[in-house]
Amino acid sequence: MESNPTSPGRGAIELAGIVKSYDGQSRAVDGVNLKIPDGAYCCILGPSGCGKSTILRMIAGHEDPTDGEVLIGGENVVGLPPVKRRTAMMFQSYALFPHLSVRDNIAYALRVRGMGKKERYERAQAMIEKVQLGTFAERLPGQLSGGQQQRVALARAAITEPRVLLLDEPLSALDEHLRIQMRTELASMQKDLGITFVHVTHTQLEAIALADLVVVMEKGRIKQAGPAREVYISPRDRYVAEFMGGQNVIAGRVEAVNGVRATVAPRDRDPIEVAIDGKTRIEPGSSIDIAIRRDDIELIRPDKRLDSPGRAAVSSRITAIEYQGNFVKVMLDTSEDVAFIAFVPERRFFQDPMHVGDVVYASWDIEHAHLMAQ
Ligand code: ADP
Repeated sequence: MESNPTSPGRGAIELAGIVKSYDGQSRAVDGVNLKIPDGAYCCILGPSGCGKSTILRMIAGHEDPTDGEVLIGGENVVGLPPVKRRTAMMFQSYALFPHLSVRDNIAYALRVRGMGKKERYERAQAMIEKVQLGTFAERLPGQLSGGQQQRVALARAAITEPRVLLLDEPLSALDEHLRIQMRTELASMQKDLGITFVHVTHTQLEAIALADLVVVMEKGRIKQAGPAREVYISPRDRYVAEFMGGQNVIAGRVEAVNGVRATVAPRDRDPIEVAIDGKTRIEPGSSIDIAIRRDDIELIRPDKRLDSPGRAAVSSRITAIEYQGNFVKVMLDTSEDVAFIAFVPERRFFQDPMHVGDVVYASWDIEHAHLMAQ
């Protein structure tokens, strides 16, 4: 540990004004500022081509930024090779040597650092025990499952005692069942190792399941960074809400403000009421987006509609129904450009099943809607 109590910690990362241009014109990374605390599990999330891997390679030392600084443990590491940065990278393909046993694959990482044979194999044995690979130590990678190979790759990266481990889509080569299993394992290995993990993914559920810090990117820029739950339930704007999923977004113009409530007119639809949250600028004439969680929507038949105070509703028609096990996904046509979706708990749905073509009100508690400036 660092002796200076004000130091950022050995595995703390700071990206300060990072820009990366491969061709001198367009920017793959366009002015990124980010602080990742020592020992955090950070997931960088965004669609393909938004600059995630470029950021990872600049932290690793496989790429230098065009502008800006990369600090690890408070020290600017731009220009230093990966070994000097004490970073390790784990790739999607795992890159294990097929002709070497698990034990030799793990020990090899120390050989390239010039460590003697005896010490190499002692350390490899300790790591094999730590990640519970004892039964497989003498096997070749081809004799292991995808999940076991991943554990070997992690052990090989961790044995060099990096202060930061970088993972580029580490789970995307696995089938769905194994992916969920390995997700749990990655999280527990990170806690055991106690080092900073930076994990790149385009899968929202993977990011929110694993990360202490979720970073959502779009076109080379950070759109929002924060704890998983904050990014999920309080997206900053429509892009983050739609990318994270689980929300319906309605756009509208503020018609009137009355104390703690405002009236918003969505396009081509009856006005709805919103609760003013004190954070989003709401004044007559301004345009806002309203995010409503799919699991906050209640579907009400037209003959049962009660104008209960504190609730808002839009009329809609059911276009599709999908059974999902513990809930039912109901797709609604509300004349918005994007689909409006309700997740109805399965027990509640089957008490009075609805059908495709039914006209319903999609209703929600206005205190639960989340307002976003446009
Ligand atoms: P992501 O990991 O989010 O899919 P990348 O960081 O790989 O995105 O890429 C960001 C942008 O930079 C893309 O437009 C991509 O085509 C471009 N890019 C990535 N690597 C290179 C490279 N080595 N040379 C030129 N352009 C690159």
